[in-house]
This record gives sequence, C-alpha cells and structure tokens, in this order.
Amino acid sequence: MELLVVGTVAYDSVKTPFGERKGVLGGSAAFCAMAASYFTDVAIVAVVGEDFADEDRRLLESHQIDLSALQTVNGAKSFHWQGEYGEDMNDARTIRTDLNVLMDFDPVVPEAFRSAPYLFLANIDPKAQLKVLDQLDSPRLVAADTMNFWIENSREDLMRVLPRIDVLVINEAEARQLSGEGNLFSAARSLLSCGPAMLVIKRGEYGVLKITADSIFAAPSFPLEKVFDPTGAGDSFAGGFMGYISSKRNQAPETMRRAAIMGSVMASYNVEDFSMNRLASLSREDIEARYNAFRRLTEFGDL
Ligand code: AMP
Repeated sequence: MELLVVGTVAYDSVKTPFGERKGVLGGSAAFCAMAASYFTDVAIVAVVGEDFADEDRRLLESHQIDLSALQTVNGAKSFHWQGEYGEDMNDARTIRTDLNVLMDFDPVVPEAFRSAPYLFLANIDPKAQLKVLDQLDSPRLVAADTMNFWIENSREDLMRVLPRIDVLVINEAEARQLSGEGNLFSAARSLLSCGPAMLVIKRGEYGVLKITADSIFAAPSFPLEKVFDPTGAGDSFAGGFMGYISSKRNQAPETMRRAAIMGSVMASYNVEDFSMNRLASLSREDIEARYNAFRRLTEFGDL
C-alpha cells in the first residue's frame, strides 16, 4: 500500500443549478481515494455508520481501494453534508453538517499501513489528522487539506497539524481565513512560515497555484461549459496529485508540477457529473487525453 488517506466517507445532499441529489456517496477520503486509485495502491482510514450501503462499499472496492481500515459503527449514521451552489460554482454554501459517527471517531491505522510512504490527511477534524500522524512511522511526504468548518471550530488543533506536514492543500478563501491575510501571496507566506514547505492553493474555476518559499507554479482549470457538481473537486484534485507523486516515488520539482496538472485533470472530470459518477468511470485514455489537452492550454514556445 503506497498512499494512505484519512478523511470522511459521507453521504452528501447537493443542489446545483443543474439539479439535486440526496444522500449520494461523497466525503473527502472517498473522492480522494477514487481519484488516486488510477495511479497507485490506496487505503482509506475513516468511519461510516450502519447505513453505509453495500453498493457504495463495492464501488470503492472495485477500484482496488483497501477498506480494511474503514470502521463501521452499528447503531449510528454516516457523516452527512448538505451543500448548495449558486451560479458561482466556486462557492459551496454549507446548509448542514451532521457529524454523526465522526463525533467519536478514533482512527486506528493497522500495523500493515504504518509504514505507508505517502499520507494524505483529507478534510476531517484536525484531531483525527493528528492521531493518524502519531501512528505513522516516517512517511516520505505528508499533505493535508482543511476547510472553514475546522478553521472556525478547531483552529488550535489545526495549527498543531501544520508543522507536521509537507504540503498544505487549501482553498483560496480558506488560505485567507486561516492566515488572516487578505492578499493571497501574503497569506501564502504566512502559512509557509507555520510549517509546510509547499502550499497548493485551490482557486476553483481559476485553477491552482503551487507555492514554495522560492517558486510559484500556476495550473489552469479545464475550460468546461457545464460544471454539473463541483462537490469533491478539491479532494479529487488531491487524489490525482498524491496518486501521481506516489506512482513516481519522487518529489522532484517537475514531478510536483505534473502532479498539479494531474490533480487538475481528475478534478475536471469529477465536476462533470454528480457524486463520483464520472470520476469512477474513467479510462487510462481519458486521463491521458485530458493531460495532453492541459498541456496545449498553456504551451507557448521560446521568445
Ligand atoms: P470538496 O472537495 O471541498 O468539494 O469536498 C466535498 C466533500 O467534503 C463532500 O463530499 C463532503 O462530504 C465533505 N465535507 C463537507 N464538509 C466537511 C467537513 N466539515 N469535514 C470533512 N469533510 C467534509
């Protein structure tokens, strides 16, 4: 097992200008692992309730995602998130967050996964992120994500995560919120000073910025006329990003740039349909075709 992902496996109820779905498979770890499964061996550390459907378990397993560390709590319900998007699909409005099983989640990393070389701490209570970090031997690369909910409710724990990770993947608005800086590059400098050597700032339909102390790389997002459902875009970005890096087994600057593009490829497919309907039905050719389309988007020759 190459990539361990801790995060939520959830049921989402989502409304976008293109329609509405209730109680469909989602969650930060589920989207991330699904995207990563095209590149590497991945396992999920998460918790679900007894309502978690066999068909959803089978879907994840059919992508060779290892669910042996997915806990099921009898008599309790899975994490549920309800969100809505207006015309501006960059901005998810959370209507409701039912933590349910997440309230008492005590992540246990099985012995066999403790030497995982790559770790992604997807969006979840930073307390759970810290508990997973404590159980790993010495991963080569650790990346983490977070969101406004945890910045507002668990800031202290979140600030204890930052010195222990290499890459922070975060939305533009949340980078501003966490750092307290209005200017994005000042926000980036401030967050880099808290620990991570690299930031990946997600800017919705404007793509991502990969920032270190001495470099900036900009990846566009794919020009799509119909974004059906942006839910999981950030997590499928992270899955493509971490999955690609773990398949290359190095963190050279060119690998990291290509990983940012691969993340963007997976996010662009994910938003084409609700839940992970599109993300779960990709072929190698689809992925390569879109990677090449990304290359053409920004290729320009020498002066
Ligand atoms: P994103 O990639 O940012 O669109 O993430 C969407 C996913 O995050 C949804 O499938 C939700 O189930 C999940 N989610 C929403 N709120 C939270 C939260 N507070 N903690 C962890 N996961 C969440």
